Amino acid sequence: MTKSFVNLRINADRFRARFDALASIGARPEGGAHRPAFNQAHLEARRWFLETARAAGLETAVDGVGNHSGLLRCGPSGALILLLGSHLDTVPRGGRFDGALGVMAALEVLQTVKDHGLTLDTHLEAVDFTDEEGHYANFVGSLGLAGRLQAAHIQSPRGGRERFREALGQAGLSEESLFTAGRDPASLAGYLELHIEQGGRLAEQKVNIGIVTGIVGIRSFKICFLGRADHAGTKPIAHRLDAAQGASAFTLAVREVMLAEFPRCVATVGDMGFAPGAFNVVPEIVTVSLEFRADEEAKLDRIEARLRQQALDAAERFGLKLEIRHLDSTAPAPMDKGVQAAIAGACEMLSLGYLPLPSGAGHDAQCLAPVCPTGMIFLPSIDGFSHSAREFTRWEDCVHGANALLHTALTLAQS
Ligand SMILES: [Zn+2]
Repeated sequence: MTKSFVNLRINADRFRARFDALASIGARPEGGAHRPAFNQAHLEARRWFLETARAAGLETAVDGVGNHSGLLRCGPSGALILLLGSHLDTVPRGGRFDGALGVMAALEVLQTVKDHGLTLDTHLEAVDFTDEEGHYANFVGSLGLAGRLQAAHIQSPRGGRERFREALGQAGLSEESLFTAGRDPASLAGYLELHIEQGGRLAEQKVNIGIVTGIVGIRSFKICFLGRADHAGTKPIAHRLDAAQGASAFTLAVREVMLAEFPRCVATVGDMGFAPGAFNVVPEIVTVSLEFRADEEAKLDRIEARLRQQALDAAERFGLKLEIRHLDSTAPAPMDKGVQAAIAGACEMLSLGYLPLPSGAGHDAQCLAPVCPTGMIFLPSIDGFSHSAREFTRWEDCVHGANALLHTALTLAQS
């Protein structure tokens, strides 16, 4: 790091004023924000972001997938671009910090660099990605920019294809335009995202900054326990083929196996469906929804093998047949080691405590990680609340985070 940058800090008052102004767009009486992708408040927030970036002297742009950008040409002509960003959309009745804080911090970093007239080796771009929360289609903006968006991603948007098309139209986009936003990976120096943790680890351990090591991969399955329907009054318990018993034994075993063998990973039985589903009929079929998450593919493989065995054992114990159907897999996205080291260096320079940790939630960063060096800075979420009005991060932590983002960006933009 060049010595003259050591004392550089973001403008905390300006950062705060903009964060508050943004939070007022789609504000809820209970304290959160309601900006699902493409609703009126979301569109207004995006317009406001572009105006603010323009007023800050940045070049602004909207790409074919609707990502909104402010660009600072602080590198030599033809320089690579270091992206800093997150998302301005929220879940319905979400919090003020999720996504919004990262976009405001990115904007603040760019303006700080501009204010001081710094010349770097790369340009800097602050980006607000489209529909991170998947109101229609998860990560459509970051996948689009990464050149990884496929037809399948927008085949069956939540809320239906018609509504999606209509929403795109209102934002000046179309299904076709979504596929035109891909950047050449060779033009990107990297991607940095500042985000709240959305869990309680940093706040509990009183650590300022989380350095994300990777974003977990997720696998999901439907598991059917197949027994026999019988009269609930006349068939003795010992002679039943009761699908509920197998499904229940399996569900309890999931917890035991995860706690004993994979204490840092999670698995969830989130739904169970009974057929025929009556008080007076022994359940013939019970369908269990299972998902589990881990930060390494090998770990996902081991969890899958162990839970498949548990399902087999539970079925066998109660004389049931078993069907396991794989529904979906998302690969884990490891964060770049060099970017993690740059974040750690920035924290040390700023005398901030830090903790490496995996992210259990999905983020735009996972879409960029396969195409350019990517890293994430997490900030403490008080009591781990998120996706609700209770979401809260102390302002001094937000300022620490933005300064860590600044110095990480300065390191990466000079190497
Ligand atoms: Zn988010």
